[in-house]
Amino acid sequence: MKERIFEGIAASPGFVVGKIYLFDLDDTAITPREITVKEVGLEIARFEDALIETRKELLKIRQDLADRAGRKVSDFFDAHLLVVEDRTLIAEVVKEIGEKKLNAEYIFQEVIEEYTRAFLQIKDDYIKERLSDIQDVARRVLHNLTGKKRADLASLDDEVVVIAHDLAPSDTALMHKENVIGFATDIGGRTSHTAIMARSLAIPAVVGLRDISATVHNGDPVVVDGSTGRVIIFPSRTTLARINREKLDLARFESKLKELRHFPAETTDGFRVTLAANIEMPEDIPAVIAHGGEGVGLYRTEYFYLNRLDIPDEEEQFQAYNQVAMNLKPASVIIRTLDLGGDKFNSALDIPREINPFMGWRAIRFCLERQDIFKAQLRAILRASSQKNVKVMFPMISGFTELERVLKIWEDTKNDLKREGIPFYPDMEVGIMIEVPAAVVVADTLARMVDFFSIGTNDLIQYTLAVDRVNEKIAYLYDPFNPAVLKFIHQVIDIGHKNNIWVGMCGEMAGDILSVPILLGLGLDEFSVSPVMIPEVKKVITSLRLADVRKLAHTVLRYRSADKIRKESIKLLSSIDPTLLKWEENKL
Ligand code: PEP
Ligand code: MG
Repeated sequence: MKERIFEGIAASPGFVVGKIYLFDLDDTAITPREITVKEVGLEIARFEDALIETRKELLKIRQDLADRAGRKVSDFFDAHLLVVEDRTLIAEVVKEIGEKKLNAEYIFQEVIEEYTRAFLQIKDDYIKERLSDIQDVARRVLHNLTGKKRADLASLDDEVVVIAHDLAPSDTALMHKENVIGFATDIGGRTSHTAIMARSLAIPAVVGLRDISATVHNGDPVVVDGSTGRVIIFPSRTTLARINREKLDLARFESKLKELRHFPAETTDGFRVTLAANIEMPEDIPAVIAHGGEGVGLYRTEYFYLNRLDIPDEEEQFQAYNQVAMNLKPASVIIRTLDLGGDKFNSALDIPREINPFMGWRAIRFCLERQDIFKAQLRAILRASSQKNVKVMFPMISGFTELERVLKIWEDTKNDLKREGIPFYPDMEVGIMIEVPAAVVVADTLARMVDFFSIGTNDLIQYTLAVDRVNEKIAYLYDPFNPAVLKFIHQVIDIGHKNNIWVGMCGEMAGDILSVPILLGLGLDEFSVSPVMIPEVKKVITSLRLADVRKLAHTVLRYRSADKIRKESIKLLSSIDPTLLKWEENKL
């Protein structure tokens, strides 16, 4: 077979060679198979068995949900059950199997397609919503008829490279590195949470490949090059030899970088910054320590809520936050309060899907409405603060009134604990993420209300440039070097410093080695990046001189194009140490 190369977006570095595992096999692969008159009864029985099996599955899910999350959540499955009990639909499939003498799965799929077409004609939104229930149930029935189950990514037996149209962050969170050695998807961008999760798990990945899942097959040999964003199917011998060389190079480069582990992130002329890690769960702590991270600049707590049918309570959260704080002491741990919504769903909270989820009911907006959930988290964070190295940070703050409301709840919660005699650290630092353009504009007001800012460029870029961070079609517009983005960052750092608060960055831009010199020159105090990026970022910081990066920042702020800004940074880095750019050059 001839080698085929697909170009996508480099999501998580590293090279892997393996066999393709197509996630969620497409049901359209079902083909008609003629049956004899004698087989009609058998085929109908097979169909009825599949319905019984599906009904059992749905009842089990509903029962589990009722036990763990209450009736209100489990009622959601009633509509699904109605589909498997729908006499008209069943009668139609049975009749057609007899008339057309074709296999049950083919007939069932045809009937469902007719239903879908009919539903799409109806103007009523409620009825339209029921369509997704029908499709979900239909998928289950087909899986039971064909024996093809949607795989559970947590329990794959072989080492595979997963190829999928899309993977939710919750799917990625289930992956085990021993089985899923790499993955590639049609959709997504570098700052989608699926990509961020892949980096956190150190699984090489490429996203935004547009149509790869439709053109490859299970078992095809594949190379995922997560460093440059290439996926190669049926790699030639020359390609495999090159990949093996690059793998060795990368391993050598990484082990050299690891030698920096115990050194501070300090420029050659002694200007020191904090280089911390972004984590998704307590299990990430060994990676933070192994890569030499100085604490945690962003603990994304929402993964607590994903892939489970219940809501974590105060005690469970306290145990996790306390463990992270204890393990990293005296380095600090910034716990970000819940940021569900956007591209993070699939929790027992069942946040409804929205047309525009990144601009919708997410993060602090959700918490301000669900104060029961918010307060439980704040109590857990406050209790963990007794370790004295915990800081709290609120996401998606957009202005004064919102922050005032949040801080009032924070104070109320502290008072509750005081009244109950529960200890916490009263001088704990409180910060906000700057990720909404409005917050940049009123940063002066907000800076007086908190102890620090952390710039969330993943969102700040998408909102500033109106470019959805997970949409591969417009990924070329999602550019951290866009002059508007740099001006905003400059403004936030300046305003923070004028108000005597420190300013960090926990968006992915902080881990992009081409941005590091500029951010350093702009005066950023803390870089928080995914653990695997720490050695590379530290290498860059420790190779630079403060005077040079200040000059660079000053120069690029005057430039009108992102490309010119990027080139200026490349020029500086290559004049210092060209090996720093080895992996970057492949991407350019
Ligand atoms: C950000 O927006 O930059 C950020 C760090 O938060 P998240 O990626 O979780 O939205
Ligand atoms: Mg964000």
